[in-house]
Amino acid sequence: MPLYGAIEAGGTKFVCAVGTGPDNLHNEIRFPTTTPQETIGRAIAYFKEQAAQSPLAAIGVAAFGPVDPNPASDTFGYITTTPKPGWANTDFGQAVSRALGVPVGFDTDVNGAALGEHRWGAAQGLDNFIYLTIGTGIGGGGLVNGHLMHGLIHPEMGHILLPPHPDDPHPEGFCPYHGHCLEGMANGPALEKRWGHRAETLAPDHPAWELEAHYLAVGLAGLICTLSPERIILGGGVMEQAHLFPLVRQKVQQQLNGYVQSPAILDKIDQYIVPPGLGNRAGILGAIALAEQQLGE
Ligand code: ADP
Ligand code: ZN
Repeated sequence: MPLYGAIEAGGTKFVCAVGTGPDNLHNEIRFPTTTPQETIGRAIAYFKEQAAQSPLAAIGVAAFGPVDPNPASDTFGYITTTPKPGWANTDFGQAVSRALGVPVGFDTDVNGAALGEHRWGAAQGLDNFIYLTIGTGIGGGGLVNGHLMHGLIHPEMGHILLPPHPDDPHPEGFCPYHGHCLEGMANGPALEKRWGHRAETLAPDHPAWELEAHYLAVGLAGLICTLSPERIILGGGVMEQAHLFPLVRQKVQQQLNGYVQSPAILDKIDQYIVPPGLGNRAGILGAIALAEQQLGE
């Protein structure tokens, strides 16, 4: 079985590993995301060491974005317009491929995680589903008709606009681009700015969570109506609050108000809106799946 390399490239940290899947993933390392040169350089040095022990067939990169995931483009594998200092227009995927001499599968962090969930997790056998992360940002990816969603660039599900709730003490929202988009209303930093405490310190009965579930449900209802997903996987730090799941499910049903006539939503929503089957390994295993897909094509 060929051995793959994987990079989960986040805005705050990078995770690198080698392996073939959930039962064989090893030599994982983590380091902070600093300058592109230093950070990508560390990843390349790591894979050179690994490849010296056993050759790698391909490397998968699941990256924070926006990115260019179009293999036909000159800037394929680049981090493109990110506001993250120093990272705009950075060659990442091609640089890794050149340095290691192997093909690189490159996509958004959330498309990567979605592919991992499809291969080994909570979306096995589904041709249409979405994976959303609710963390420092909010991003979404997934499959439509069995293919990872790309289209114009790639989905930006976190930036759909939402009407502010009348009880929201900060109805203007916090996204520097849009104010009250899903990310600007419901990411971890929005919770912290709205309530003055880090999200992980807010008690389960804090009013923050009703409002959080409301915004997530409005966003999900819109995505359900647009993409008709067969399942929705919610990952990311904020969803570590397990009590959010029943709240979100109930509010999605209320938002849709019986209109979408599927038992998945009307009767079995517990199996429709779910945490990642791969837990917090969805990202790194997604990168393995991206590498594997590269070799298959
Ligand atoms: P990132 O998005 O940077 O990859 P995370 O998914 O962990 O990382 O998201 C970090 C955000 O999630 C922070 O805003 C943090 O406050 C929030 N967060 C992390 N863990 C929890 C938790 N257990 N409960 C609620 N919020 C959390
Ligand atoms: Zn926005």
